[in-house]
Amino acid sequence: MRLAAHWKTILQVILLAILNPARQIWRLSRRSTRRKVLPYRKTPIRPFLMAFGYPVVDEAVMRRVRAAQVSNVLRLTPLMIAGNLINAMALVAVGFAAVPIGLVLAWFLAVAGILFQMALQWRKFNRRPIEQASAKVIARAVRHATILSAVWAVVPVAALSFGDVFEFWVSSIVTIGMICGGGFALATVPQAAFRWLLVLYSVGVACLVTADIPQPWVLITLLTSFALIIIGSVASTSWLFTSNFLAESELRQRGDLISLMMNEIEEKDSDWLWETNALGRISNISIRFSTVAGRSFKELRAMQITDLASSLNLPEAHCAAETLSAAIESKSAFRALEIGVDVKGEERWWSLAGAPLYDDQGTFCGFRGVGSDITDVRRANALITQLAEQDSLTGIANRSWFLNRSEEMLAEQMKSGDKSLTLFLIDLDNFKVVNDTSGHPAGDELLKQVAKRFTSISEGRTVLARFGGDEFAALGSFASDEEAQAFADELVQVARKPFSICHREFAVGATVGFTRLCNANGTVDDLMREADIALYKAKETGRGRALAFAEEMQLEVRERRELETDLREAFENGKLDVEFQPIVDARSGKVISSEVLVRWQHPQRGDVGPDVFIPIAEHAGLILPLGAWVLDKACRIAARCPDLETVAVNLSAVQFMDPNLVETISDVLMETGFPGERLVLEITESVFLKDVGSASDKLQQLKDMGIRIALDDFGTGYSSLLYLRQYNFDKIKIDKSFVDEIGEQSEGLAIISAIIALAHNIGLEVTAEGVERQFQVDALRTLGCDNLQGYYFGRPNADPMKITAVRKEAWEDRAPSTAPGNRKRVTAGQD
Ligand code: C2E
Ligand code: CA
Ligand code: CA
Repeated sequence: MRLAAHWKTILQVILLAILNPARQIWRLSRRSTRRKVLPYRKTPIRPFLMAFGYPVVDEAVMRRVRAAQVSNVLRLTPLMIAGNLINAMALVAVGFAAVPIGLVLAWFLAVAGILFQMALQWRKFNRRPIEQASAKVIARAVRHATILSAVWAVVPVAALSFGDVFEFWVSSIVTIGMICGGGFALATVPQAAFRWLLVLYSVGVACLVTADIPQPWVLITLLTSFALIIIGSVASTSWLFTSNFLAESELRQRGDLISLMMNEIEEKDSDWLWETNALGRISNISIRFSTVAGRSFKELRAMQITDLASSLNLPEAHCAAETLSAAIESKSAFRALEIGVDVKGEERWWSLAGAPLYDDQGTFCGFRGVGSDITDVRRANALITQLAEQDSLTGIANRSWFLNRSEEMLAEQMKSGDKSLTLFLIDLDNFKVVNDTSGHPAGDELLKQVAKRFTSISEGRTVLARFGGDEFAALGSFASDEEAQAFADELVQVARKPFSICHREFAVGATVGFTRLCNANGTVDDLMREADIALYKAKETGRGRALAFAEEMQLEVRERRELETDLREAFENGKLDVEFQPIVDARSGKVISSEVLVRWQHPQRGDVGPDVFIPIAEHAGLILPLGAWVLDKACRIAARCPDLETVAVNLSAVQFMDPNLVETISDVLMETGFPGERLVLEITESVFLKDVGSASDKLQQLKDMGIRIALDDFGTGYSSLLYLRQYNFDKIKIDKSFVDEIGEQSEGLAIISAIIALAHNIGLEVTAEGVERQFQVDALRTLGCDNLQGYYFGRPNADPMKITAVRKEAWEDRAPSTAPGNRKRVTAGQD
């Protein structure tokens, strides 16, 4: 404390208190509490000023300070009374001899009267201690001190007036004793102490000056030094007293604040206090704590806080319990530590804050802290997280959760060195059709059912997610390629079984592409890319199957991507072409029709076959404009070739699924003026794999326009015969692979013979494709095939005029065709 800086103030205050305490008190008490912000407020001598009644703190505090000052004096009252009484009686005994009896008695009565009043006050104080005191109380104390000191000041005066040396000495000792005793007794009320001192000192000095003694200055100096010592010690005692008072009251205030906060905590529904002793046992248990913990006081007292944290049998809770144990063991404070607690069989979560407790000697005596039940908050958070990670339609995980989980699972495998992780990408085959034909609610229902089936087989084996649309993904560990393939096949199988939606059956199916970490080095992105390539490949090679990623697919895919770009460019720049291939009447050898085949001359690669780029066009969404363009071109050119009875145009399955197919075709016919009766559309059975009920209608609509329908590549699919019975075709085209079977010795004819017979039986015309040899022509004619197509008659040619002139040599010399003559067509189903 830099007190030296304040010495002037200190002296000033002391002087004022000595010379005119009454006025000082009056002035200070008048000083409005509104102006209590005094310059000394923040100075280190604040308690000193307070001791002298300066309002450097709130009046409320001042009142308590004054009460403490006065109480301290009152507490010493019995001692003071006893001292006064003993001194007074001694003086009476001595004074009888010299001082007039009346004066002695009067004086004694005065002393006794004052002491009696003091006793009364003390009694009153004892009954009801004073908590607060106004400035008036201090003024009254000063008044009492003045009166009592004045009474005692009579002693040296009387001794000087009436006594001799003996009385003088007795009175001197008594006066000095009273100065000191009173000064110390009144020390906590410095104004009173100073007044006491001032009265007795000035009277004492006056007596010494007037007394007939040698060298009175010596005694006066001595008396003055005593007085100064007393002034100093009174000032410092009172200062110390108020300092202590302030410190104590601050402590008390802080305590009050803490207990207020504690009460607040206890009053809040979710919070409670917890405490442990040095041994870690739970102690000082509140009712709330016991209620929240679902355990009796007795049970809790026998437990450690860590026992509570380990009561919940969940990995996450065990983890939290370990963290708590570590904190408690290392005696370090913690906050917001979430622990799981089993409360009567229910999973509850608490957030704990705690700090170690030490006693005055610094010995550790346990932990204390606050707990709050955060179960509901956690549940709400979990729900939010779940919503963010869940696909709202199917209830399974969504893409973002799946990708996060994939990263985690990959990291785990990288750490363990295990590389059995396998990623499956699943695409539904005919989802779009369900959506388009039966509406979105049916599509949604389908997705839910699919998710359910996938979940049922993936549980415990893989994590599963819907990526959006009709795409799903699964990720799990599979020890071998075979096991992974088996799971992928299972996915395909469960999707293949029909789905029942709104009393209708839907055949959907799924295609799966998968890849294994052990075959790749990689990141989640790599796995995704590879599985995607495998999926792409699987779709391209027939859907409804599962394919593992292989390195060579990568190159293929890259090539395909390039081709896709080039194709788009070529189509947009009119670089595609069409060629016509003759189809001859097996009876006359006359070209009666022509198949239109699209051509692409790639600037670098040369001729790229349609069997290569048509699937690319399908995948790139190019097939509809491309198909329409081919049709348009075919019709325009064929319109100029009256020799051709008909022209055959290929339709891809994707084109056939286009809901606007019929409209597109009729538009082309209208625009080109080409009669529908001269148009043949060739479709393959892949069209029906994707059918969901609209194929029949479409076929009928086309037939209503006079268009004829041929089932292309007959015999290469699985169910050609089935479709033959189910749909209303006009012709079939026997695939080249059957024609190839025909040997020079007429072997391999059985199947073709059966097909022709069957087709004729239901009134269908038969065309054989890929006829290259004379003996094939002969055999097919003998078997009654209606039309023939192949290099034997001509390769595809850009000019349709040139194809009509086919090899006719010795045609008449051949064995006659057994094909039915101008047979009247009968429609399937009439048989
Ligand atoms: P496709 O409909 O079976 O067409 C017959 C294919 O066999 C043609 O191949 C044709 O050039 C070939 N071919 C004809 N006669 C013989 C023969 O004697 N020997 C041999 N080895 N081949 C012969 P191309 O032109 O490569 O067409 C392949 C496939 O591409 C076609 O098979 C058809 O499915 C598809 N395609 C061709 N043009 C179009 C088109 O404009 N639209 C659609 N959607 N598909 C088309
Ligand atoms: Ca064809
Ligand atoms: Ca064909």
